[in-house]
Amino acid sequence: MTVPVYEIYAIKYAELQRKAFGNFVDSDVHETSDMPLDYFVWAIVGDERVFVVDTGFDGEMAKKRGRTLVHPVDEGLEAIGIGHRDVRDVIITHMHYDHCGNAALFPNAIFHLQDAEMEYATGRSMCHHHLNHAFEADDVARMVKRVFAGQVQFHDGTEELAPGITVHRLGGHTKGLQCVRVMTRRGYVVLASDASHFYAHMETGRAFPVLYNLAELIEGYATLYRLASSKAHVIPGHDPLVLARYPAASERTSGWIARLDLDPIT
Ligand SMILES: [Zn+2]
Ligand SMILES: [Zn+2]
Repeated sequence: MTVPVYEIYAIKYAELQRKAFGNFVDSDVHETSDMPLDYFVWAIVGDERVFVVDTGFDGEMAKKRGRTLVHPVDEGLEAIGIGHRDVRDVIITHMHYDHCGNAALFPNAIFHLQDAEMEYATGRSMCHHHLNHAFEADDVARMVKRVFAGQVQFHDGTEELAPGITVHRLGGHTKGLQCVRVMTRRGYVVLASDASHFYAHMETGRAFPVLYNLAELIEGYATLYRLASSKAHVIPGHDPLVLARYPAASERTSGWIARLDLDPIT
């Protein structure tokens, strides 16, 4: 049986200006170059199924956290022909506010989540500001309600969600962070999410300041590269270079939505 191939879309919904020293644990005060963050959700589109990866945050959360919402997530999905109410499968890479918000957007979806992430987001680690500040208690509570409503599919480690789509627990950034490997016409693309915020993190072995376990994070870089068909097939979670390197989904979505299943243009 041949493995089906999927299209993958990176959909930018928000951005944040930042200097480089804000993006590394071991930064030097002299790293003052601009290093802004883009915020993405991703869509995996096959002949038979659509998976949305992460749910982003809304305008209210953008205001609360001082981020700039550039295109609401539902608008991005609509631009590629996906109605948010029709989505049946959402993969949550981890439960940070920028990956797990927009509570009302996917009423008909099953949420795919690692056991370890739910344990982390509801357990003793959340007593500590350094570990809890990137989570929103309301997002976590909403996920607990989805558990009781039968809307969460838990995963433990590596699991296949559909032919050609697997999730892999890497931990590191959060306890239960999972990446997503997808078969495309150019081979296996791996959506790293916050397993590597920027290309620079995995390329240099450095760490983003929000961190659960440094050893797992570093090991995760090696796993990302091993899972992908080449190093260029690994897609970081917050790097503006993604939109520069990959072709736009359409003229209208240039600088906003890119196709990751196509070869990079730069
Ligand atoms: Zn995160
Ligand atoms: Zn993030």
